[in-house]
Amino acid sequence: MNQQAHDYPSRHAPTSIVVLLLDPAAKRGEAISQALATETDITVHTCHEPEQMLALIGQVKPAVILQTHAALADAGLALLRTLRDHAAAAHTPVVVLADQADPAAASAAFAAGASDYLAHQPQATELIARVRYHARAHHALQQQEQTSRLLHDTQNHLTLAKQQLEQITHSDGLTGLPNRRRFDDYLDMEWRRAMREQSTLSLLMVDVDYFKSYNDSFGHLQGDAALSRIGLALRESCARPADLAARFGGEVFVVVLPNTGEEGALLIAEKIRLSIMELAIEHENPATRAMLTVSIGVATRVPKAGPAITLLGLADEALYHAKTTGRNRVQVAVGP
Ligand code: GH3
Ligand code: MG
Repeated sequence: MNQQAHDYPSRHAPTSIVVLLLDPAAKRGEAISQALATETDITVHTCHEPEQMLALIGQVKPAVILQTHAALADAGLALLRTLRDHAAAAHTPVVVLADQADPAAASAAFAAGASDYLAHQPQATELIARVRYHARAHHALQQQEQTSRLLHDTQNHLTLAKQQLEQITHSDGLTGLPNRRRFDDYLDMEWRRAMREQSTLSLLMVDVDYFKSYNDSFGHLQGDAALSRIGLALRESCARPADLAARFGGEVFVVVLPNTGEEGALLIAEKIRLSIMELAIEHENPATRAMLTVSIGVATRVPKAGPAITLLGLADEALYHAKTTGRNRVQVAVGP
């Protein structure tokens, strides 16, 4: 390992440097290759045919491109622009090695995308130093790009994980419906919105009839399956995006219906009751007319004051009424 290889901290320095020498006139290439050949960590590939240049770049992936020019004529500038337009070489440093000092040519070369311009035959030491400098800059840029890609990927993974976590936190494992926590938040939010806008908010409380005896007859696993089907039917009965059907707990479900008056809420409650009957989930208890049914309490209010739990209490009372007056029915809350 030569001394210059230790000039830069290893984190920033490439361990080996691939140089592509574009030497269309095949005049100076040999001398330049020899100047670099003393460095064991520098590998030089020479290209005399511009047509082969892009293929070779794709193959050897140079860290630095050296381009020789007698006088930087149009062909040389075109070559530079081709390099800059090519995805694999767009960010690779190009050092122009010109034969003579010509400020206008240097300026044109920089405008066409050159990174450096040497107007004289450089000493080996200077050439090596410049190659190392540009290779290091290229390496640092690549590392930076890789780091930002990684950061971007990590951010995407984190966003996805956060969404999944939110989904898990807010949904019920058995039915896939929003869970109690999500329902509490949603009802509270809609209650406060309805209070602000003085709009009508309705709540349905849905309880499966004689579910204990269903479990006793068919077992808890079949009970779970029945609850899943009931949850799905509930979800499908709510058409508006703002409607929220959730599992309240056990065999009790709730449906929040924003901007919905009593008449509309009753219609949806009845639709739910019938859709559960249509599931025709067989039940052995004769009192249930041989299939699973639900009882539903309906509460509708334009909130004036107090917490959202007020509406929950009203729906619960109505549900109790529906239960005590025969089950498999819908009951609207009465009272203030
Ligand atoms: P009612 O008509 O008065 O509502 O009678 P019920 O039997 O449905 O009500 P009760 O409160 O006596 O019993 C509810 C049953 O629901 C008891 C419990 O085992 C069952 N249950 C609650 N959660 C689940 C569940 O996640 N899975 C299953 N399989 N059963 C559940
Ligand atoms: Mg029940």
